[in-house]
Amino acid sequence: MLPADVYARFLRQEGETVLFICASDEHGTPTEIAATEAGLDAETFYQKLHELQAEIYISLGLSFDYFGRNSSVYNHELTQYFYQQLDKNGFIEEREMNLVYSVEDERFLPDRYIVGTCPHCGYESARGDQCENCTTLLARPN
Ligand SMILES: [Zn+2]
Repeated sequence: MLPADVYARFLRQEGETVLFICASDEHGTPTEIAATEAGLDAETFYQKLHELQAEIYISLGLSFDYFGRNSSVYNHELTQYFYQQLDKNGFIEEREMNLVYSVEDERFLPDRYIVGTCPHCGYESARGDQCENCTTLLARPN
């Protein structure tokens, strides 16, 4: 966020009209895992996370014009708009992919939930998407 903040400040200094927006990320497996580990329901965890992040960014003096939540209706509408524009112009294609399914959880699991041995360094607690030991990005065989 620091490079974006520096850039926003530079543009303001140059007399440009700037709207510097950021949001807490409430979508994604790392956040979902953190909520589960904290023993909180997702909404309670996301609200606490948002408040904590806002507090930190204010204390650091970041110059956001607005700091919101990516779960907001506005963000969903904007995301849908971008998706529809991409789809309308032929930039979206359907592909098949293999996913791991948990019978116990009755859901498909994101790569982050899968733990195993890294094929590159042998680390035995590597996550399905990246090995924390050797930092190699791991691709799922399709
Ligand atoms: Zn590794």
